[in-house]
Amino acid sequence: MEFACLDLVNSDWHDHRGSGSRREYLDDRAWLTRFADKWGFSEAGEPDGTAVARLKYLRALLREMLEALAEGKRPSARQVSELNSVMGASPTVRVLQASGESYRLELVPKAKDWDWVAAEIAASFAEMVTKHDPTRVRVCANPVCHWVFYDESRNRTRRWCENTCANLLKVRRFRERRRNPKST
Ligand SMILES: [Zn+2]
Repeated sequence: MEFACLDLVNSDWHDHRGSGSRREYLDDRAWLTRFADKWGFSEAGEPDGTAVARLKYLRALLREMLEALAEGKRPSARQVSELNSVMGASPTVRVLQASGESYRLELVPKAKDWDWVAAEIAASFAEMVTKHDPTRVRVCANPVCHWVFYDESRNRTRRWCENTCANLLKVRRFRERRRNPKST
């Protein structure tokens, strides 16, 4: 299961091998275009500096909230209120759509700009905690990785972001055991 809020949080990329290198994907136009295409945000066009700065602010807020969930805690009232502000910055209007003989009532954003994108990303967090299972949010157990994911495993036992981290840690443990056979 994928959520736009997880993609945003993981746009601050840390090398899982622990080299200390990081990548700031919010400054990478190609990454932003792929992200916008994937989530249906292309109509917002290219983000300006203010829009990118706001996304970075939202990312920091979402990381705090997701890490709280991963630790079995609840996001604070201040964090919830900040998330509501982000969603509130993009007003929607009710529109009755008539197609053929049927009608649909739709909630349509007043403008499809980067405030709307930020509101949609914030809303993906709100949907995760209301329609899905917030206790499945995890931060990769590799301490240098920081990747956040939604654990869909049946036994809720997934601890690693992807096989690379799992394999990396297995190899490391194996080497430690060989060096120090009595320790485990
Ligand atoms: Zn990882």
